[in-house]
Amino acid sequence: MAKVRLFIDHPLAAGQPVPLDAAQAHYLSGVMRLGAGDEIAVFNGSDGEWSARITQAGKRGGELLALARTAPQRNPPDLWLLFAPIKKARTDFIVEKAAELGAARILPVQTDFTNSERIRQDRLQAHAVEAAEQCGGTFVPAVTDLAPLSRLLDGWDPARRILWADEAAAGPAESLAGLTPGPWAVLIGPEGGFSDAERGRLRALPYVNRVSLGPRILRADTAAVAALALWQSAIGDWKS
Ligand code: SAM
Repeated sequence: MAKVRLFIDHPLAAGQPVPLDAAQAHYLSGVMRLGAGDEIAVFNGSDGEWSARITQAGKRGGELLALARTAPQRNPPDLWLLFAPIKKARTDFIVEKAAELGAARILPVQTDFTNSERIRQDRLQAHAVEAAEQCGGTFVPAVTDLAPLSRLLDGWDPARRILWADEAAAGPAESLAGLTPGPWAVLIGPEGGFSDAERGRLRALPYVNRVSLGPRILRADTAAVAALALWQSAIGDWKS
């Protein structure tokens, strides 16, 4: 049976009792039909993956006993994803894929043509946790609250370069092989694309690399996956 993996925001050490909240206990006992004595895998985002034995799991909560570390902590490269939220289900998809593809931080941004006025940051964070549980990761990227792109750029650290997927650059996609590892961010626009004012500002920033994602205009969710994959394969942790 596939190993049950659970993110637990609690210190992990050999012999460490770990409390389960009601939702976690219900997932283990009610959904996965596990009980006292069964073992699962747990991770807290910084101490690697641990084996843990269920000591109790009921309707109101439960407890695990951490046994031994079973995998080292593996952090993703220092790569952020800035994306303009689109329809709910597709925004959920972007967050889930960004967590699987190794984004270290996920920042929903409000751009001139962004339709969504607000996001459910807690729900998106839960999607990032579920993605980490499912993909075998030991790291969970933080999903920040919606912020105006202009304000983020006002306070931007120029040491973090931006890979800007500009639909107006659609065409042959040049190789990223010449780019060097380090702190990066990928920037993906909304369904309506980037405004001329945004384009003018981004083109003038020395730490922005404008890229094409090929000759076709991709949906924002497709573009986010394509850009993250391009970066990971060129200068990220997909390289040997
Ligand atoms: N409304 C825009 C248009 O018709 O040209 C399309 C925007 S596209 C749906 C959403 C975002 O995906 C864009 O802002 C850009 O970040 C990215 N994108 C899509 N296709 C791209 C391409 N071929 N090259 C670079 N970025 C692309």
